[in-house]
Amino acid sequence: MSEGKLIIFSAPSGSGKTTLVRHLLSVMPDRLQFSISATSRAKRGTEEHGKDYLYLTLEEFKLKIKNGDFLEWEEVYPGTYYGTLKSEVERIWALGKNVIFDIDVQGGLNLKHYFKKQALAVFVMPPSIKILEERLNSRQTDSPESIALRVEKAEKELQTAKLFDCFILNEHLETACKEAERVVGDFLRK
Ligand code: 5GP
Repeated sequence: MSEGKLIIFSAPSGSGKTTLVRHLLSVMPDRLQFSISATSRAKRGTEEHGKDYLYLTLEEFKLKIKNGDFLEWEEVYPGTYYGTLKSEVERIWALGKNVIFDIDVQGGLNLKHYFKKQALAVFVMPPSIKILEERLNSRQTDSPESIALRVEKAEKELQTAKLFDCFILNEHLETACKEAERVVGDFLRK
């Protein structure tokens, strides 16, 4: 099977990385395909199984860990697991496309470490922790406890931005989208 490239978008929850990834998928549909992660969390809002995530029970998730089915997995929040299945990357490469990931900071660094120059690791930076908290609140999809956890985690994650290949400041969405198109376009042309 011919191998493609990997584009990793990581950021604290609420930084807008999902929006940037969706934008890239809409402007480069022939070159990029989204890696659908597995998760043990419940579906949120309008999310769909097999589109946003593969929703597994905790038992199913743990069985896949045991079987070595994951390229990487993380207990992103206590009791809640997320992971990238090997079969997902193989599926996308078999289509002749490059894989794009929306993944937490530690998972992103793990994938970069594994794939090295074959991967571009992009950190999406929120303008500030305060704005991040406001965005999480206005999303109205998470409980106050979940938001508090995400903010606490974000403070630590911001310190890892320098370990990525590049970062994009997401203050104005339109500017951030253009910047994302530029860095990804340059990497795919190399
Ligand atoms: P959410 O619950 O908001 O969809 O995702 C929570 C966090 O888990 C986000 O930072 C998201 O990017 C991350 N995440 C999603 N899929 C994966 C994955 O496959 N592996 C890891 N390590 N994190 C993931």
